[in-house]
Amino acid sequence: MKRFDPETLVRPNILALQPYSSARDEFTGDEGIFLDANENPFGERNRYPDPHQRLLKKALSERKQVPVENIFIGNGSDEAIDLIYRIFCEPQQDRVIICPPTYGMYEVSANINNIEVIRIPLNDQFELDIDKILSFQAQCIFVCSPNNPTGNTLQNVERLLREFRGIIIIDEAYIDFSSGSSFLEKLPDYPNLIVMQTFSKAWGLAGARVGVAYASTDIIALMDKTKPPYNVSALNQEEALKALSNPLEFERQLSVILEQRTLLEKELKELSLVHHVYPSDANFLLVEVTDANKIYQHLVNKKVIIRNRNSVVRNCLRITVGTPEENRTLLDELEKMERYK
Ligand code: PMP
Repeated sequence: MKRFDPETLVRPNILALQPYSSARDEFTGDEGIFLDANENPFGERNRYPDPHQRLLKKALSERKQVPVENIFIGNGSDEAIDLIYRIFCEPQQDRVIICPPTYGMYEVSANINNIEVIRIPLNDQFELDIDKILSFQAQCIFVCSPNNPTGNTLQNVERLLREFRGIIIIDEAYIDFSSGSSFLEKLPDYPNLIVMQTFSKAWGLAGARVGVAYASTDIIALMDKTKPPYNVSALNQEEALKALSNPLEFERQLSVILEQRTLLEKELKELSLVHHVYPSDANFLLVEVTDANKIYQHLVNKKVIIRNRNSVVRNCLRITVGTPEENRTLLDELEKMERYK
């Protein structure tokens, strides 16, 4: 791809769109008598949130060393995924490439938006089949690295960036658990690149719903004008800001999770129920077992809930790394199951 050209990739209705102008777009100061937004004048949560999430973007910009103009904040990454389809893909006309096994929402969101999905599976090393990908024309491709549910960092994304002529979304939801580097640093080189990250994983805020997309100023401007005006609540913005202001706690939790991942991997490998534990750069392990359905059901009966991925990778379970106590309980249940089988 030479230069990203919005004229060729963006849906014409989005290019022509006049965005909604909210009361808080017209006046942005903090002080005054606000009689502009039909809010209730009483209470603590009576005001609409900042539609541009300025404080949060500023804090993220400092942490990630990415300019504010290259940051989009959404109601979870799931909102960013949906917006990308609505901006770049014409329903019943355009296509998207997805590389299973991967995060399910890329396909569900495409189906919701009536976009045709081309599925090009990862190879048996769980790597992208780049030649096959490049043999198709599609408006967008979603790649997830580290990938869910396989846990690996994809090795050959760089070639995709050089050769794929559509929008490339790299979902880095699990990047904080990886020792590999983020594609954020490649943003200036690739105007068709969107890097997604989230506060739902290492930042511990899945309940708050805050997702982030980083991209060229052109793409971010399109996402901003297409999103609902107040897409991220004041509560969500405050929680994310609070998390960012406490990097030591972030580091502490991260190091416990990484330590526990190593321990869980080691102990799982010692079980005869376990055939293989795939190496992971994320906060979960993909584990091939003797009989995934049976083990999954047994654990559910013991109130230990993991994810049965048998339907996407044969006889595989995906186990999220929990607290030391939770991981111990899981391992104890598996050991008991082995002893009494
Ligand atoms: N991307 C990937 C790869 C995920 O696994 C998940 C959640 N499991 C998400 C995105 C969702 O992120 P969010 O909570 O920000 O919507």
